Formats: sequence, structure tokens, C-alpha cells
Amino acid sequence: MSTESNIPHGYEQVCFDAELIQRYDGRGPRYTSYPTALQFTEQVNEDAYRANALQSNASGVPLSLYVHIPFCHTLCYYCGCNKIVTHNQERVEKYLENLYREIDMQAELYDKGRKVEQLHFGGGTPTYLDEAQLRKLMQKLGSAFNLDDHDSRQFSIEVDPRTVDSDGIRLLSELGFNRLSMGIQDFDPKVQKAVNRIQTTSEVIALVETARAAGFKSISFDLIYGLPHQTVDSFDATLDQAIAMRPDRFAVYNYAHLPQRFKGQRMINAEDIPAPETKLDILHRTIDRLAAAGYLYIGMDHFALPEDELVTARRGGTLQRNFQGYSTHRNCDLIGVGVSSISSVGNVFSQNSVTTMEYESLIEDGKLPVKKGVAIDDDDLLRAEVIQALMCYDELVFDDFDAQHNVDFREYFADEIKRLQPLAEDELIALEADAIRIKAKGRLLLRNIAMVFDRHINAAENDNRFSRAI
Ligand code: SF4
Repeated sequence: MSTESNIPHGYEQVCFDAELIQRYDGRGPRYTSYPTALQFTEQVNEDAYRANALQSNASGVPLSLYVHIPFCHTLCYYCGCNKIVTHNQERVEKYLENLYREIDMQAELYDKGRKVEQLHFGGGTPTYLDEAQLRKLMQKLGSAFNLDDHDSRQFSIEVDPRTVDSDGIRLLSELGFNRLSMGIQDFDPKVQKAVNRIQTTSEVIALVETARAAGFKSISFDLIYGLPHQTVDSFDATLDQAIAMRPDRFAVYNYAHLPQRFKGQRMINAEDIPAPETKLDILHRTIDRLAAAGYLYIGMDHFALPEDELVTARRGGTLQRNFQGYSTHRNCDLIGVGVSSISSVGNVFSQNSVTTMEYESLIEDGKLPVKKGVAIDDDDLLRAEVIQALMCYDELVFDDFDAQHNVDFREYFADEIKRLQPLAEDELIALEADAIRIKAKGRLLLRNIAMVFDRHINAAENDNRFSRAI
């Protein structure tokens, strides 16, 4: 069991309690938004999006941009992302032309004075694009929006090590990116072969060194546990190699095998997937190894070095849970461009069409491709704040919450407080006179705690639509 040591509240490492984890291991949302995407309806259409975007200018808050590049060269069998595996450059160019048009349409809605402080390229594989395509896309964004050129900007990109070399990393830096995340998943060749994603450790080491020399401020590694052929020892070897490179952050995800939903996963032999107990052992070992190496547990799947900006943001109250997991710059309105992208502007979430065909045909008709979303009412807003507080800060202080939201928390959430009792008895949380505090045992079960405040959740969805807690 990991120890709580002397780390002050809010920075404890997690306490791994296998019995508790198994008992609470049900399906549940990951709360990258609240309400979750399951609550999105066609009530938020293009007109509603436009009206809300124009209205948001009164706030003058800065902007965050998300750009979705859905293309990949090959299929990783575990993948559950919205992606298109293709080598057809005509298809890519057509998509980019429509993306440029969407960028122009979006930019028309927002005051030029609103700086884009945060930019994220996700996918698919953003580094699928070649140099000319990346340059043109950044030029388009730069001419349409007011991109921050200050050192404090956070421009990040997801890098597939198989698609970039050192020149590619330097190009990303030249284009303004200063943070990157790399999909590593596992360094074991046997595991890589089973998931059809082959990349060598030496390639990754070279890219990390180049990124550091090019001035990237944050490098994050994505790992996945629960992949075929993984064992505690094999994953330990992956951790040895990954920790030796000292990335600023780790995101360690649980592989959810849902072959009925994700066709590519049918290529994975279910018998090769580690048993649930082995997965738990791998997770336990990972948590201990990362803690021993000096990484702090931020929250759901995320670990960071003490000097990383996620830790600083947590300390300064600007940490947020959003569609990228955890992120800083809580005060921004988020504009998502590209197929399936999600925006969060003011109190409205919205999502673009999830099929490329529909996305492109709407844009060709001169329309924004917004298909669905949800306007957050006052009750949802309060619940979203509670979930953010618990997932980002591990505590909710009643008086602070009451003062901020003009509500009596204990009265408003009396029913939820009652339902938290069993979780308090299991020591996931402490229900104190002044606050709810997540205990070390509850840190791996944040979603179970957050679910108590989710008024939309229902058992049927709970069983089928979400991944397991661990
Ligand atoms: S994991 Fe990434 S690179 Fe692999 S298929 Fe999915 S989106 Fe593409």
C-alpha cells in the first residue's frame, strides 16, 4: 500500500486498496464535462451556437482552441478515438479545405481582442500532416484568430513518434507549439505487435532530446495498461524506460476492451488481455513507481512532476477537468474545430458532426457543423462546480462554495450528502464539519464520488456506455 507520508492535503499520493477498488469498480463517466456528452441534444444547433458565441464576447475572456485532425496511417487495434485510417491525400486536402472554412466562420463570431491563450491539436494523428499542411494550418489560425505569442501561451500537440523525426519536432517548435504529448502506450515489442503499433525506445529518446533542446516546456507520455501480453514485470520494464526519459507528465489509461463498439479491437485476442487482478497489480505497481520517481498524482489517470504547470495550476486554482483530461487556463472559452470537436463557450457545450461526410457537406453549404449540445442550467452549473472541485482539488469547502455561488451547499445538496455517507464509511472521503475532503483511498475512485452529484446518470447508461472506473 502506498503511504500518505508528510505531503500536505491536496498532494497526497494515492492509497491503493484492491478490495475497495474491486468493490467500486462499475462503469461511470470520466467527467471531462458535466453534464456529459450523453446529455447533448439537437436543441443546441447552429443558430443557438452562433447566438451564444456572439453573446460570449461581452465577457471578454480569452479563448482556447481545439483542432481535430482525424487521420492516421495505420490502425492501433486498441483505439477508441474518432479517426480515419487512410493514405489518400485527396481526402486529407478536402478535409483541410473545409477545416479552413470552419476556422473562418468561427473566427467571425469572436472579438479579435480575445486572445487565444491555449491551443491544442488532437486526433487521430495531428502529426499525420506534412510540413506544408501544418504551416498552412497554423497560418490560417494565425490570420483568423488573435494567437497569443507570449511565452505563457500553451500551444500543445499530440505527437505520434512514428510520424515525426527530429526535424519534425523542430518544425512544431518553429510553428509556435511549446508543449507536446506522445503516445507511447508500451515499449514491449510483443505488446506493440499485438496492438499494431511498433515504435522503438531509441526513436522516442531522440525525439524527447530534440524537444527539450527546441525549448518545449512540457512533455507528456501516454501509457496504457491492460493491453495484450502485458504483465507486471513487462510493464515495469516500460516504466523503467519511460521514467528514465523524465517526461513532465504521465497519463496512464486503462484499456477498455469493447470489441462490439470498436471494430479494430476485434483484432485483439481477448485471451491475451491480462486478467482483472493482473491489471490491478500493474496499476498498483505503476502508482508506486511513479510516486517513487517523484511524480504527484493530479487526479484520474494523470501524474506530474512537482514543478509542472498542472501542479502550479492546482495550487493557483486554475486547474480544470476538460475534454483533454486535466488542463490549466480555466477562464477560457473553448472553441473546437474539426469533425467531432466539442466547444464550451459560456454555459453552453456543443459538438460538431461526428462523421466527416456530414461535417464536410454542412460546411460546403456554408453552415457551421454544430450538431448537438447542451445549455447548462443553474442546477447543472452548481453540480459541475462541485465535480470540478472534487476532481481537481480533492476538496470542497462549504463556506467558500456558498460565498462563490450564493447557495447553502449543505441544504441544497442534503440528499447527496446523505448518499456520501457510505463512501465516508469506506474512507474514500472525509465528511467534515467545514468540507468534503477526498482521502487517499478515494483518489483512484474520483468518478464514483463525482457520480453522487450527477443528476442525469441512470443505471442503464451506467452499464453500457461508460468505461470501468479502473
Ligand atoms: S491510437 Fe492514435 S494513432 Fe492509433 S489509431 Fe488511434 S488515433 Fe490513430
